Amino acid sequence: MSASRPLHICMAASEAAPYAKSGGLADVVGALPKALARRGCRVTLFHPLYRAVKETFTLHRPVLADVPLALGGERRVFDVFQHRPSPGITTLFIGDDDFFDRSGLYGEEEDYPDNARRFSFFCRALLATVARLGRPVDLFHLHDWQTALVPLYLRHRPDFTPSLSGVPSLLTIHNLAYQGLFPATAIHGADIPGHLFHMEGVEFYGQVNFLKGGILYADAVNTVSPRYCREIQTAEYGAGLDGVLRSRRDHLYGILNGVDYELWNPGADAYLPAAYSAEDLSGKEVCKRDLLRRFGLSPDLGPPLMATISRLVDQKGFDIIASSMAELLDLGFRYILLGAGEEKYVRAFSNLARRHPDRMAVKIAYDESLAHRIEAGADFFLMPSRFEPCGLNQIYSLRYGTIPIVRATGGLDDTVTSYDRLTGEGNGIKFGEYSPEALISAAREARSLYHHPEHRANLVRNAMACDFSWDSSAGRYLDLYGQLIAPPRGKPPLESSF
Ligand code: ADP
Repeated sequence: MSASRPLHICMAASEAAPYAKSGGLADVVGALPKALARRGCRVTLFHPLYRAVKETFTLHRPVLADVPLALGGERRVFDVFQHRPSPGITTLFIGDDDFFDRSGLYGEEEDYPDNARRFSFFCRALLATVARLGRPVDLFHLHDWQTALVPLYLRHRPDFTPSLSGVPSLLTIHNLAYQGLFPATAIHGADIPGHLFHMEGVEFYGQVNFLKGGILYADAVNTVSPRYCREIQTAEYGAGLDGVLRSRRDHLYGILNGVDYELWNPGADAYLPAAYSAEDLSGKEVCKRDLLRRFGLSPDLGPPLMATISRLVDQKGFDIIASSMAELLDLGFRYILLGAGEEKYVRAFSNLARRHPDRMAVKIAYDESLAHRIEAGADFFLMPSRFEPCGLNQIYSLRYGTIPIVRATGGLDDTVTSYDRLTGEGNGIKFGEYSPEALISAAREARSLYHHPEHRANLVRNAMACDFSWDSSAGRYLDLYGQLIAPPRGKPPLESSF
């Protein structure tokens, strides 16, 4: 690191807001570079040039054209396009129409069969781009399995990038459930050296595991909350990689995600029918009325309105929500769900909504504007995840005065504190056991607090006062970058968890 120039971080991810988004990863990779740039870093963000990006952003001449790359014995060429979203940040899009000019990010009905090739190519192409551009790089910050081969190439294929030898790398795991698992033959297409295909290397029960490669060969690994960092080192939450993670525990960190309050602020949210703040909540009532109307529910503001916005996948606790639904409605709640994903949940929740049309409504879609309206109009946000690396929606809910009801796991446990009737402290309602009974008992407590004016006011005030902005989390990333770039000599090992 030179004192005379800003730190230059090369970040890479398969999705980043506003370019492409399928979940929280995109929010994080969209926001973290901005927070780092505010602290004086220069960030180059590498992103695939998906069809959606080409359709939405006007990109001029490529900054690099027809760059040749030999991948798994096949000759390819790619282009690099540039976009500057804000000062200090340059996005470089890796363009290869065969691989990325498709309607999905990772698949359509099913995963694309060539995902191993697509993302190993992305990793190789971004390294080739960095080497060609020749600007000094201080650190590579990679996100999830799609970019996890970068640390492996840096360490084990110095022939690909001789000019980058010694540049440290950090891998952030946003969700250990997605590992990039492929048949063993994928190592050839990805140019992974054969001698790494064994239990202590990238092999995982006969397959190749891209994320495992990143965990083993990055200089440090982090995940997105301190509790999830502890959980993934256990057999229960480790998704088969707990042993590998434990082997790297001296270089494993938990850094809580921040959120972007420029995008999620009830005082200035262009999607909302009315703005509001902790001092004047009248706009929140307008939002609730508007939401009830949009979902065809009765306009009565009295009953508590509970909502969920989520990918419809097993992780998020939809089996216990479905089993609890009749009782939640009998307790007096209204319920709104916005989500897209697995067919079994689409069917189950659509059927429930048909059975209770006056008290429950479902929208099967991915809809950013509706997500904002729901955050504002609901009274409670239900998120009973089986596991949750960080979770963003409960943090957005807090800012919108929408009280989270969550299961105490991962980042949900780190961001939500149970309301205490004696002290008036706490920002939500938490339960521990993964069961409909525990969920219903938390909902009973929520209902009771909702109907108690003082407790309800305390909860909303406490929730809206929480600050999970990126500034403090970006500071932690910067500390970690600093230690990787200039490791302390002769000092005790880094603290293993923040
Ligand atoms: P995950 O990354 O596991 O999906 P997070 O809570 O970390 O969960 O982030 C989810 C992000 O995706 C949030 O920004 C949330 O608003 C958004 N999201 C999820 N499903 C939908 C949907 N159906 N419509 C709009 N936004 C959604």
